[in-house]
Amino acid sequence: MNFTNFPRKQFLQGATPLEAMPNLSKALGGRVNLYIKRDDLLPGAAGGNKTRKLEFSFGEALSLGADTIITCGAVQSNHARLTASWAAKENLECHLILEERVKGSYKPNASGNNLLFHLLGVKSIRVVPGGSNMMAEMEKTAEDLKKQGKKPYIVPGGASNPVGALGYVASVSEILQQLNSMQLKIDSYVVPSGSAGTHAGTVVGMFGENGNIPVIGINVSRPKDVQEDIVYNLANATAKLLNLKTELPKGNIECFADYFAPGYSLPNDGMVEAVKLFSKHEAILLDPVYSGKAAAGLIDLVRKGHFKEGSSILFLHTGGSPVLYAYLDSLL
Ligand SMILES: *Cc1c(COP(=O)(O)O)cnc(C)c1O
Repeated sequence: MNFTNFPRKQFLQGATPLEAMPNLSKALGGRVNLYIKRDDLLPGAAGGNKTRKLEFSFGEALSLGADTIITCGAVQSNHARLTASWAAKENLECHLILEERVKGSYKPNASGNNLLFHLLGVKSIRVVPGGSNMMAEMEKTAEDLKKQGKKPYIVPGGASNPVGALGYVASVSEILQQLNSMQLKIDSYVVPSGSAGTHAGTVVGMFGENGNIPVIGINVSRPKDVQEDIVYNLANATAKLLNLKTELPKGNIECFADYFAPGYSLPNDGMVEAVKLFSKHEAILLDPVYSGKAAAGLIDLVRKGHFKEGSSILFLHTGGSPVLYAYLDSLL
């Protein structure tokens, strides 16, 4: 696919590794072969999926002459950390609005990403209650900054608008190139589904590139139907931005919602087991909010026999490991 119509700031330094997980495959009974796409190893302080999206968000911001970036996220947001990281690299001011989705969860002295916000030189952090209109809050900050003579650019939560989702559309040709050169046939691709840019972009890329690999999203915060609609709408808007000629089939969007209880960012047993299994068997660090819960979904689907015997499954590691250090009580 052609992305040259869109301003893009190159943050990637080549393809992220696509590796086998033979130890974990064996530990889960050896019925299927598990592989992992290491987007946790993308550049940007401590890595993670948002870097792919931010290539396009920052591309647009810089093309508009912005000198200041505003974004939002949860109190331990990886997206906020990576936005702050690329703002630091590009000499832009960064302002964060953090949503306290779980009451009392904002701790000004917390470890994990909270520490990193400060190290990365974030200019301001404003905490708002769960359920706030985050776009309205960011616009408020933008107005204040404009009055001070700044040129702010707003990156929406998770960079999950059509511009940001382009990063995951583009990831698909990278993956297909790797699979072709490894001569590896993948039967299912499992990705976390949160603010949905990763899932939606991947589905559009798979469709546009004729990749023919079904994509499975594991929800981290919303019921199945609600999330599938969000992914579908964003995927369609992204396809439209790319001028795709054929309509994306709704059946290409599939979400599983059984793995995030009791709620977004709240620990559960499946997440704890997944974090421990990935580290013990593959020396891969997941996170408690996204990749740990998505991996819990992967593990359960493998155990339940959801995938045909002998099939090969690819899992997208979206990063987030700094958040492990804010969850000591659940993981030790
Ligand atoms: C943001 C994030 C996700 C979810 O990606 P979306 O595009 O928001 O759906 C998954 N894993 C990690 C570590 C994240 O930070």
